[in-house]
Parts: sequence; structure tokens; C-alpha cells
Amino acid sequence: MLPDKRSTAKRPAIMPPEEKACRARLKVLGGDFEEASPQASAEGCALPFPIRLKRLSATIDLEPDAVINCTAAEATVRFATTVITPTAKSAFGEELATIDQASAYVCRPRNGTRKLSEHAFGNALDIARFTLAGGSAIDVEPAPPGKNAEFLAAIRKAACGPFKTVLGPGSDADHSLHLHFDLAPRRNGGTFCK
Ligand SMILES: [Zn+2]
Repeated sequence: MLPDKRSTAKRPAIMPPEEKACRARLKVLGGDFEEASPQASAEGCALPFPIRLKRLSATIDLEPDAVINCTAAEATVRFATTVITPTAKSAFGEELATIDQASAYVCRPRNGTRKLSEHAFGNALDIARFTLAGGSAIDVEPAPPGKNAEFLAAIRKAACGPFKTVLGPGSDADHSLHLHFDLAPRRNGGTFCK
């Protein structure tokens, strides 16, 4: 596996201030979460201070719960409340009720590479479906019907910036059924959205 400095960083005995501050912000934003067990593996996967994210807000559920780092959780909560909800409202006239995630922390390399995936650091979330308050679902898929296509395209476009990597149907075969959002640290702070 190609080296990543996060793989070898020593886990501090006590929670660093930035992790505490993130949790405080997440609470204010309305996220519902609990602390989860640290993750680490011989392959270099590392998630020293994970949370189990249960709800994105009082009105937006996350299913199933996601083990993720706090920064990625905060980005997801902010994006869901400030972008996805209003986009759903204007496209369908309904509030967003649930986001179905397909992967959060997963210890694995990026497909077809020797580099660890951002999932291996709990720094990524894959979204497969959005469910509206009325119960209808918008699936991430290669050829979404009608209004769903516009909604998904708007979400995907707006995600580029708040998230540093945005992939989905059309990017490659691995992303035909979900949107991949992550906060990959890039030297120039740039984005990769395809
Ligand atoms: Zn992914």
C-alpha cells in the first residue's frame, strides 16, 4: 500500500481539541451521534476518533448509522441541511427525510489501486438514496427518471467544494449506484469532481 501519513500517526491518549470542537459544532447543527471505537489496521486504515452518526438533524435521518470521522460528519450535516433539503423542497415540494448511505468507514484500497480509499480513514460517505417526507425515494442510478435526474445533478454539482472529491454514475463503473463524497486532503486544497 502506498504510504499515507494518517496511517502511521500515533493516536493521542486524550481527544484532541479540534475533535472536541467538531463535536460541539455537530451538536449545535442538530446531528445525533455517539462515540465509536477507534479503528486501525495493519494495512494502514486509521480512524482514531470515530463517531457513529445516527441522524443528520431533527428532521433528517441517516440509514444505517455511519461510522465516520467528525469532520466528514459535519460536512455531511451542513450539506444536507443547507443544500439537499432546500433542493428537495424546490424540486419536489417536500422536505428531505432520510439519506441512505452505502459506505462510510471501510478498510480498503481505492478500486484498482494500491492507495487507501478515503473510506479507510472514515473521511468519505457513499449516498445511494434520498427519501422525501412523503415516502418517495430518489435512487442514485445511471439514468434517473424525470425530475430525479435534475435533483441529483444539482446535488452533485453543489457538493463539489464542500466535499473535495465527488464521484457518481458516469465517473466509473464503481460509482454507478451511489454518490461518493469525501474530504481527501490535497496539497493545493483542490477538488476532484468527475
Ligand atoms: Zn465511496
